[in-house]
Amino acid sequence: MEGRTCLVTGASRGIGRGIAEQLGESGANVAVNYRSSIEDAEKVVETIEAAGGSAIATRADVTGRREVESMHDEIHDAFGPVDVLVNNAGITQDTKFEEMTRDEWDQVIDVHLGGAFNCTQTFFDDIKCSEEGRLICISSIVGKQGNFGQANYAAAKSGLFGFVRTLALELAESGSTANCVAPGFTETSMLETVPDRVRDVILEEIPLDRFGTIEDVANVVEFLASEESSYITGEVLDVNGGMDL
Ligand code: NAP
Repeated sequence: MEGRTCLVTGASRGIGRGIAEQLGESGANVAVNYRSSIEDAEKVVETIEAAGGSAIATRADVTGRREVESMHDEIHDAFGPVDVLVNNAGITQDTKFEEMTRDEWDQVIDVHLGGAFNCTQTFFDDIKCSEEGRLICISSIVGKQGNFGQANYAAAKSGLFGFVRTLALELAESGSTANCVAPGFTETSMLETVPDRVRDVILEEIPLDRFGTIEDVANVVEFLASEESSYITGEVLDVNGGMDL
């Protein structure tokens, strides 16, 4: 990853943090996007720098186009154009569909799909002009299977499948690629919101008999971000312990 510049959205904690740190440790320049916690984002930067890499913390709410454009300028000033964009920022607002408010629907769709739209369009020229440009969207097993109480999240995560397949076609002429990574249930604060009895039921459905780790997901993202994945595009790579077999 030496000499490549990567932007990871929602990188102040969880999966995004793991991806940012792994890309940084493998030699990339990393833009660590955060929305609310500069302290957490700065810790990620420190970890990358301590491992000999280069990183900056860059604030933007991905739902705001102007904020994303300012982030673009900040990253260009620090590192130049972005080779790898990882659309990772995400939220949940879980509730049964019949009780779901329009606001709960809109917020989740806006972060996952609106954020992917804003970031991808803002950095599209960078990815297209890079010799090995990469668009990577973090989707979910829930986008494939659905999940009780997550109609908004499932719709957003399924939407990313169609999004990357289309962008794979639109980027192909440039040699750049677009793919999704679809984690299963992964040990982060997002999983901590799931009640224990539901966690037990989920665990019974995982053939490998454990929840995923942040490293499980970051390893696959690092591979997709690298030059070794240059003939893979428009794909969804599952990282779910066999849940979808
Ligand atoms: P997490 O621990 O809750 O972290 C989410 C990150 O996204 C935080 O850094 C958060 O920053 C950021 N974020 C949220 N809204 C944002 C916005 N509008 N603009 C910029 N950043 C924003 O979640 P996670 O579990 O690591 O999940 C990361 C991604 O993996 C998400 O897309 C999620 O859907 C997906 N995923 C997770 C699992 C799982 O089991 N954990 C499984 C499949 C897929 P703030 O702190 O500022 O809010």
